[in-house]
Amino acid sequence: DELGCSHADVGAWVAEQWGLPRYLVESIRHSEDQGAAESPFQACVQLSGAVADIWLDDDADTARERALQQVHDGLELDSARFDQVLARISEALPDIASLFEAGLNSPLRVRELIDHAQELATLRNLRELQDADQARRRADEFEARAKRLADQAHRDALTGVLNRRQLEAVLEQEFLRAGRQGWPLSVAFIDLDDFKKINDAHGHLTGDEVLRAFAGKLQGQLRNSDTVARFGGEEFVALLPNTSETVALDVIRRVLANIVATPMAELEGGPLFVTFSAGVATQGGYERFADVQDLLRAADDVLYRSKNLGRNRVIARSPGALGHDELSATAGAELG
Ligand code: GH3
Ligand code: MG
Ligand code: MG
Repeated sequence: DELGCSHADVGAWVAEQWGLPRYLVESIRHSEDQGAAESPFQACVQLSGAVADIWLDDDADTARERALQQVHDGLELDSARFDQVLARISEALPDIASLFEAGLNSPLRVRELIDHAQELATLRNLRELQDADQARRRADEFEARAKRLADQAHRDALTGVLNRRQLEAVLEQEFLRAGRQGWPLSVAFIDLDDFKKINDAHGHLTGDEVLRAFAGKLQGQLRNSDTVARFGGEEFVALLPNTSETVALDVIRRVLANIVATPMAELEGGPLFVTFSAGVATQGGYERFADVQDLLRAADDVLYRSKNLGRNRVIARSPGALGHDELSATAGAELG
């Protein structure tokens, strides 16, 4: 402060007085500069203070970390190469120390320090691996949750089968696929019979229970490749890809036979049974519909006919497809 100069300035004057070579004088003058050095040698001199702290500081680990950071910034040395340099310094230290008549820590201490540094590096790697593992697990969880949410958005909240919007999307896909593959696509429009009476007699909660049970049983009796959706209220739609009208008729009739024999709820007065009416229409059999709306409308028309014929029956669109049950039921209705 008194002379308006730094320790490095004074060092440079002294070195100049002693007639030391120019590069040494300049390196000493800039030894405390921060930032870019003019030569690698000068950079080493600038970094030497931080490196010396490894031997001088009480906390050698922290001093090494600090020096490594600066050495990395200044000379782009990584940790392993820096440790090699430290080992060489430590080998040379006894000679240099005796030159300056200075007592320094034993070289052994440096070996320990490097070992310790390597342990810390290994630990840090392990921690990073753990973090990466944790991140991957969380990403998996998020993905599963997103899938669950997307699935929920596709399903009817009461019954768990597909909702009407998703039905339309699947129907559209199946309609195209049937055209591409050249196979028939059958659609069954299913409506529970006299459902209003169930609500009126037993309450809406029982009605809900019946809808849930029915949807589950309907789904359970179809193939995995078939689709069940709630169209609305007590109306359901089943899509049967690669299924002819005759086969679809058989399948839905078998479902009806099963449903009428299975209780949909257990009430105080005893088990509650339901029946349904259904209409089947098929794309690509003897008929080709322009689009999915036409196909659905056709199935709905046949459903209407089965209601008019007395309910508790499944009818297909084609007159030739009247099965045995249908013939007798129709005959019965006509006689009645
Ligand atoms: P049909 O044999 O002619 O089909 O007679 P239906 O009584 O089944 O038909 P209708 O259309 O007259 O009545 C359907 C009933 O379904 C009326 C409505 O309150 C009931 N419903 C619709 N959605 C639900 C629901 O989510 N839960 C309950 N419990 N009832 C529902
Ligand atoms: Mg109904
Ligand atoms: Mg209805």
